[in-house]
Amino acid sequence: MPSPDLCGQCNLCQVACPTGALDTPYVMNATQCLSYWNIESQAIPPQEISQKMGSRFFGCDICQEVCPWNKKKLKAFESSDATTHPAPTEHTPTYHLKNLEKEELYFFLTASNSQILERLGQSPLLRARPFGLRRNAVIVATNQGYKELWPYIHAATKKYPKLLSLLPWVMSRFEIANPDSFE
Ligand code: SF4
Ligand code: SF4
Repeated sequence: MPSPDLCGQCNLCQVACPTGALDTPYVMNATQCLSYWNIESQAIPPQEISQKMGSRFFGCDICQEVCPWNKKKLKAFESSDATTHPAPTEHTPTYHLKNLEKEELYFFLTASNSQILERLGQSPLLRARPFGLRRNAVIVATNQGYKELWPYIHAATKKYPKLLSLLPWVMSRFEIANPDSFE
């Protein structure tokens, strides 16, 4: 039995999604979703996705934040249309993390796996595993223009070869021609 259509004419999440992951109605294209890339995936995202990640270190949830179903009160949903769009009674909590301080990014760039595990304890951030968090730190530091973190990014790519494919993108964003001659 098909699920009832609870969206009606609304397309707020489609319009708000920065990557087009929701462009096809009722379909979520995980290959374009920032939350997939910075939480679930253990791979290096395409450059376009890395750029769109901006300062989002863990998760995204823009689509959740704009959804009227996730807001306690929304006047439009208190109208006669409420039979097809009843006002939600519960706020659905979302979880994401952005705009980390430089010092926090530094930690994830330089910490060992065991140091990350020790610091995070039972935090949901560990869903991304130490590699994912380190990768996210490289991407966010680059998007934030924290060129002073370059030596640590460079060192991390040497220590963890899985990060290496990010290097050309980082160097191009930081306008670094020779990775070993940076001052
Ligand atoms: S979490 Fe972000 S990128 Fe993913 S579908 Fe929602 S708005 Fe789009
Ligand atoms: S924002 Fe919410 S109600 Fe609107 S289309 Fe997206 S999921 Fe449906």
